[in-house]
This record gives sequence, C-alpha cells and structure tokens, in this order.
Amino acid sequence: MDCASAIESFLAYLRDHNLPVTAQRQAIAEVVLCSDRHVSADDIERELWARGAAVGTATIYRTLDVMVRSGLVVERDFGEGFRRFEPARDEPNHEHVICTVCGRVVEFRDERLDRMTMLIAEQHDFVRSRHKLVIEGVCGVCRGTRNEERGSAI
Ligand SMILES: [Zn+2]
Ligand SMILES: [Zn+2]
Repeated sequence: MDCASAIESFLAYLRDHNLPVTAQRQAIAEVVLCSDRHVSADDIERELWARGAAVGTATIYRTLDVMVRSGLVVERDFGEGFRRFEPARDEPNHEHVICTVCGRVVEFRDERLDRMTMLIAEQHDFVRSRHKLVIEGVCGVCRGTRNEERGSAI
C-alpha cells in the first residue's frame, strides 16, 4: 500500500469509528505513514514543527495509539525508553539492528533465523506464533569506518 492510500485508509478508519478527522491527525498520519524509518513521538513533533505545524505531544500520542489500533502502524520497543513507529507492510516479519550511538535502525530478513526460531520453539514444545529480535551495536558510520553522513535518529 502506498502512503497516500494508507492515509486514506486511516481517515476512513477515523470516520468509521466516529473519531474526529482533524488537520493535525492527518499531518501526523502523513509523517508516520510516508516514512520508511522508525519514528518516535519526538521525531514526529520535530518534523511537524519544521513543516510549520505545531502539534502537542498528547495529540501525537493519542493519534499514534489510534493508528496502531487501526493496524496501519506497528509499534516497536527497542529498549531505548521510548517507542518507535513504522507503517505496517504486507511483507513478512522483519528484524532490526539498532546503533546504540546514533539510533540508526536497519531492517533485515533472514530465512535461517526464521526457521531457527521455529525449531527452537518446537524443541520446547511450542508452536511459534511470532518472535522479536533486536540486535544492538555500533554502526559503521559511528565507528568511523564509513564516510556517509551520520544516520539520523529516525
Ligand atoms: Zn551509529
Ligand atoms: Zn522495521
């Protein structure tokens, strides 16, 4: 789903649930749904500020909760003390590597890992429904081994 139709779906969700469709909610939805990154509430606030729209933190959190409930946005907890959000995609489960210095998040998929988590669950007489994996480390940019611009925290 492209981000324009994701925004449309979110507005339809609001209307279907008799929730107010406000310009602020639409602006928040745009930032989250059109991002290919993992944004925090602070990132959203900064981004909206840069666009000339001041939206309060409470409104941002409330809107994020509604977006998660709508199934259009997935919430992530990388153990940083705050939550991050990314658009829900149709593709299968993916994992994350996060830089503990700059907060850069990279996604990956690995079929061996997928199979292994299933086998480990089986060994313990479980049927795996899902799993979460976050690898923490220091990225190449922060180690100075890569020249590209330092990754932003979103
Ligand atoms: Zn880094
Ligand atoms: Zn992700």
